[in-house]
Amino acid sequence: MSVLVVGSIAFDSVETPFGRAENVLGGSATFFAAAASHFAPVQVVGVVGKDFPMEQLAPLAARGVDLAGIEHADGESFRWRGRYRHDLNAAETLETRLGVFSHFRPKIPPQFRSAPFVFLGNIDPRLQLDVLQQVEKPRFVACDTMNFWIESRRDDLLALLPHVDALTVNDSEARQLTEEVNLVRAARWIMARGPRHVVIKKGEHGAFMFTPENIFFAPAYPLEEVFDPTGAGDSFAGGFIGYLARSGDLSDENMKRAVVCGSAMGSFAVESFSIGRVLEIGMRDIWERVDAFHRLVGFEREMIG
Ligand code: AMP
Repeated sequence: MSVLVVGSIAFDSVETPFGRAENVLGGSATFFAAAASHFAPVQVVGVVGKDFPMEQLAPLAARGVDLAGIEHADGESFRWRGRYRHDLNAAETLETRLGVFSHFRPKIPPQFRSAPFVFLGNIDPRLQLDVLQQVEKPRFVACDTMNFWIESRRDDLLALLPHVDALTVNDSEARQLTEEVNLVRAARWIMARGPRHVVIKKGEHGAFMFTPENIFFAPAYPLEEVFDPTGAGDSFAGGFIGYLARSGDLSDENMKRAVVCGSAMGSFAVESFSIGRVLEIGMRDIWERVDAFHRLVGFEREMIG
């Protein structure tokens, strides 16, 4: 089953304790598509400027990602500049240049409108809502956001929540959105506004999935080297939604497997700048990492005493 994603397609400039990269391919839609393409057919909606060399997206096309929904508009492409210091869980945004995103109105190609799975990647919530108004009854809609939009478009974001099945945010975004310090309470606050599933990512400390009946936790894979955390959240979402689309199963048990696939894809994303590592891996690497997660958390329940 196909997955439709709308989100940013960006030039990222990133500084980490291990190096820096200037104007590399990034953006929420880009990372998501790269990760989800291992699991299901992906259709991308977004915008780039005239300065964007379309051949940069050729590796995605080679993985079968349908780029027919990418508009080539007059103006500059979206640019994000960020820095990570020793706490790799916290990105510090140094600059956000919306460029062509400031006048963008998503136009969903007719052949994308019946996509059963939709991911509203991190982008202006008004554009996320605009996309939902153009699609036909998807089975599952997930949505991501970040501090930039929580601060500048809070009301639009709150208006979007009733139309969303799952919200994926990191812990600081959950706290900022809900004004709750405790993450369990934050998740309840979000669920009360619409989404039945709330995924709260905690970087190297793993991810929680809250549903009205359950709380599930998956650790992050304990890597020896985290090179660049940029894109981990979107790659997580790509693994999560991609796996749901591949299996077509929205039961709580399967959602847990999807969270583990998300954690696996996030762990590959942080091994390189940009989408290089996520594109280079194959299904065998992914299942091996999923097995490693299974060994990491599995234990015999019989207790002594
Ligand atoms: P994450 O997966 O959460 O690390 O997201 C990383 C990507 O988000 C980067 O590649 C950026 O280009 C993109 N990004 C940063 N700020 C924004 C924003 N305000 N709106 C949309 N995308 C953004």
